[in-house]
Amino acid sequence: MSLFPPEYLDARARYRAFMVEHVYPNEAAIGREDDDSQTLLEELRGHAREAGLWAPHVPPEAGGTGLGFLYYACLNEEIGRSAYAQLVFGCQAPDAGNAEILHLFGTDEQKERFLRPLVAGEVRSFFSMTEPEVAGSDPTLLRTRAVRDGDEWVVDGHKWFSSGADGAAFAIVFAISDPDAEPHRRGTMILVPADAAGVEVVRPVPVMGHAGRGWSTHCEVRYTGVRVPVANTLGGEGDAFRLAQKRLGPGRIHHVMRWLGQMQRAFELMCRYANEREAFGGPLADKQTVQNWVADSAAEIQACRLLTMDAAQKIDQGSEARVEVSLLKFYAARVLCDVIDRAIQVHGARGLTDETPLAAMSMMARGARIYDGPDEVHRMVVARRILRSFADGEGWAFS
Ligand SMILES: Cc1cc2nc3c(=O)[nH]c(=O)nc-3n(C[C@H](O)[C@H](O)[C@H](O)COP(=O)(O)OP(=O)(O)OC[C@H]3O[C@@H](n4cnc5c(N)ncnc54)[C@H](O)[C@@H]3O)c2cc1C
Repeated sequence: MSLFPPEYLDARARYRAFMVEHVYPNEAAIGREDDDSQTLLEELRGHAREAGLWAPHVPPEAGGTGLGFLYYACLNEEIGRSAYAQLVFGCQAPDAGNAEILHLFGTDEQKERFLRPLVAGEVRSFFSMTEPEVAGSDPTLLRTRAVRDGDEWVVDGHKWFSSGADGAAFAIVFAISDPDAEPHRRGTMILVPADAAGVEVVRPVPVMGHAGRGWSTHCEVRYTGVRVPVANTLGGEGDAFRLAQKRLGPGRIHHVMRWLGQMQRAFELMCRYANEREAFGGPLADKQTVQNWVADSAAEIQACRLLTMDAAQKIDQGSEARVEVSLLKFYAARVLCDVIDRAIQVHGARGLTDETPLAAMSMMARGARIYDGPDEVHRMVVARRILRSFADGEGWAFS
């Protein structure tokens, strides 16, 4: 029996057919990140809209085609197989997570000005929280300040790893608005147009040798005396930590859903090559070490799928699923890295070339153990909750 209802599987089949026709054959061209690849991408996005496959991460009332988390998880096993498909279907990070909190917490005016063009794919956005000077794992340390001056915020600060800031239209900035409040009420999220005076995208920070362009950048950004109306506050004043949880929970699970696609693609490449390639009198598939890699990968991928379905179902039912999402995030990030690494090893030197997607997949996978919270912090969240539950005499039910 499938993990998903038949109508979700039908939808996934449509994405698969689209990927085969339009995405896989164009991966190399999109990956060149030049002017031609931008034109090509726009063309493919047009096809995705025409096919009714646009923005599956948000519901129709927000301009998308989504039907909830479980539905999106199902589709992402397909979409996630190619790093570029999220762009083609208009559900790329960080825009997808930003759209989600704008949809949940934006005012009507903010939705019209920021959310509508974002979901329509007319503009991109970025999420500006992490700072080079302090540990991003602990946002109570953030230094970027927002000070009220009449009906304006004045924002000053220094961020980095603002993914996609190059060429984006606006940021959601996490700034400290009340340093004297209790730590988790100090921050406010503010919508800042990228062309506001005082916003400087300093540089794309090269990550593992790749500076990127547009969507694929991770930028250093300075905010110097940036003035925006108080009406640009997202949620309420002091709500940044609450909103960050709302944004990062779904954002994390969106990442993991895509990783499921990456894992499965690497796994298939590994199995096919192990059957084809011969050494020491027989195919690699006959070597026990390779068999162990295949078996371990199969078990781990299925475990990640089940953990994802569990978290997605709980979120659809209204739970924040904090433990489930953290557990899934650190476990799946490790499995992603391990499966891709095994697939590269089975391919020998070819695994390091651009003849397979594995090398590029490996480069992107490493960040998974760090972004949206490093492994260690998610382990801490899970362990603390479970241990507190035991301390309270309740134990832990694997619901
Ligand atoms: C590819 C990529 C994209 C990103 N995109 C964005 C973005 O769009 N917007 C944004 O704001 N940020 C973004 N980030 C930043 C990311 O969210 C931070 O890197 C992350 O929160 C960790 O913060 P840090 O890098 O400052 O590491 P630190 O907080 O300095 O932590 C360093 C290390 O300390 C260890 N550590 C920390 N806390 C604990 C603990 N409690 N127990 C044990 N060990 C611990 C961990 O090993 C951790 O890796 C991105 C990062 C990457 C890699």
